Amino acid sequence: MIYIVGLGPGEASQITPKALEAIAASDVVAGYTVYIDLIRHLLCDQQILSTAMTQEVDRCKAAAVAARDGKVVTMVSSGDAGIYGMASLMIEVCHELKIDTDIEVIAGITAASSAAAVLGAPLTHDFAVISLSNLLTPWETIEKRLSFAAQAEFVIVLYNPSSKKRKDFLQKACDIVMEHIAGDTMCGYVKNIGRVGEESTILTLAQLRDASVDMFTTVVIGNSTTKVVGDKLVTPRGYRSIL
Ligand code: SAH
Repeated sequence: MIYIVGLGPGEASQITPKALEAIAASDVVAGYTVYIDLIRHLLCDQQILSTAMTQEVDRCKAAAVAARDGKVVTMVSSGDAGIYGMASLMIEVCHELKIDTDIEVIAGITAASSAAAVLGAPLTHDFAVISLSNLLTPWETIEKRLSFAAQAEFVIVLYNPSSKKRKDFLQKACDIVMEHIAGDTMCGYVKNIGRVGEESTILTLAQLRDASVDMFTTVVIGNSTTKVVGDKLVTPRGYRSIL
């Protein structure tokens, strides 16, 4: 049996009871070291298969082999395991290795919803989610998605907005979006959601272009209806007629 589990943004209270049940029922827990550390206090005698960030395929193979050998295995990702997480790779690896095991994906709270909750309610209407990481997607494709999402008036959530090697990606992304929407569009970002150093900022798109964000930041770019209400970022759902 393999459970593919999302751990939420980073604090114990945002892990779902269903994810906790899977972890408790497992013989083996696999995942990137940082995520294993988030749940280390929950582990009793489970074997830990932890690997560095770049060894995803090896980690999935080791988990699949453990399941073939009769173990109950939990593969953990941050947020939701099916959103820029390990879920698809785990399923593909089992299929390719012809390992006949039950697989259950357990949903977690993804950064888009936890960031939105910190900021207020910016995702109450249609939105698009785009990762700025060009490790697995060509940059031209990312540019195309940004451009069309802005043209379609989606609120846009950006994952992986920056890294050591990609300092100017957020700037480039904002420039593309600003070809279609105004620089005074309200936006926000949240760093370290549910972790030490959580910090949120509401600002305009033009200001966001020059903001300094890191890889533990989730960015929300509003659309023409997004506004600041009190200290919250809000995209109206459209109930104005009943107010
Ligand atoms: N599976 C994860 C996403 C992994 S991609 C999920 O569903 O949330 C990694 C990106 O997610 C980061 O670069 C950042 O943009 C976002 N992210 C994940 N956890 C975060 C957190 N605790 N605080 C802020 N952003 C986070």
